[in-house]
Amino acid sequence: MTKGTAAHGKMGSKKTHVPCRRCGKRAYNIRTSCCASCGYGKTTTMRTYNWAKSH
Ligand SMILES: [Zn+2]
Repeated sequence: MTKGTAAHGKMGSKKTHVPCRRCGKRAYNIRTSCCASCGYGKTTTMRTYNWAKSH
């Protein structure tokens, strides 16, 4: 029983990401106060990369 999704049992006990008010994705980190997807809270411009597919 030590294979695969053992650590997933702890998921949901602590929430780190809540819905972002700028991009709407659940990527806004409460502890660091910034969005992992659009950079809200860290940058005023949108966090975007060419290697990241938008679709
Ligand atoms: Zn965002």
